[in-house]
Amino acid sequence: MKNRKSTFIRVSTLATYPDCERRGAARLFRREIDAAGFKLRQTPYGIGAAVGTAVHKGVAVELGEAATAGRLPPVSVPLDAAVESLTEQLALGEVAFDGKRGPTQNRGQAVHQAASMVRTYHANVAPKLKPITVEHRLEAEISPGFVLSGQSDQVCREPQSIRDLKTGTRSPASVSAQIGGYSLLNRSHNMTIDTASMDWIKRVSERVEQPPPVSQTVKLLHAETAASMVLAHIMLGIKTFRQGDPERGILPGDPWAFLANPSSILCSAKWCPAHGTEFCHEWSEKEQ
Ligand code: SF4
Repeated sequence: MKNRKSTFIRVSTLATYPDCERRGAARLFRREIDAAGFKLRQTPYGIGAAVGTAVHKGVAVELGEAATAGRLPPVSVPLDAAVESLTEQLALGEVAFDGKRGPTQNRGQAVHQAASMVRTYHANVAPKLKPITVEHRLEAEISPGFVLSGQSDQVCREPQSIRDLKTGTRSPASVSAQIGGYSLLNRSHNMTIDTASMDWIKRVSERVEQPPPVSQTVKLLHAETAASMVLAHIMLGIKTFRQGDPERGILPGDPWAFLANPSSILCSAKWCPAHGTEFCHEWSEKEQ
């Protein structure tokens, strides 16, 4: 049974967890790791994430309307929602823009990109969908004391499918575990899922024409297996961090409860809250 002491695992963390388990743990279990005496860093909130959140907001508003009214609203509806979301995020003043070589160096470029990305989704993907739920949060106990929690971007009918939306300058390396996690969640709530796919919209410089979304089918069985395997690693890691593992010489509170991967492309102060802290020294070896 789920209770207040349950450990919650967000589906959105499954895709990147295997890239460096320790970084994944720092994101998932920050409070617990800090309570054990480590001081994890805050990583900057980048403009890529802000634009992505705005595009998701626009898409959620238009597909939410399609789910209830049975037809898509005009493009002005998702555009307004996306720009409003971006404006709210930028007003907080904590968003880090790209450097000189990145595509988003100021507010005007960010607004232009979010709008272009929403327009291309509205024109190329949205008309094909029959959404029944949009960003609907689900939870399920996957093992005693562990709850999986998340919301897939959309669950559609005909065929019963999950679709997830990704944005960014690079195509996501692997989405299987995340999609598999959404599938497991929907299945645990008696929703039949037959197919899964991911739509990726590239964030490009305003000087470049916005490319259309790239849609990719995800093998459901493979995705669910990937999700189950990653979840098993997460649960073993946090149990070991709490209790230690004498057979492996790991004491309670030892960062080695979680494998570290300093070869990860995201092993840097920009992306990892453990970088430069007592929770991880492995990054320093590669910089010698
Ligand atoms: S600093 Fe590098 S090796 Fe250490 S947790 Fe972060 S990404 Fe992993």
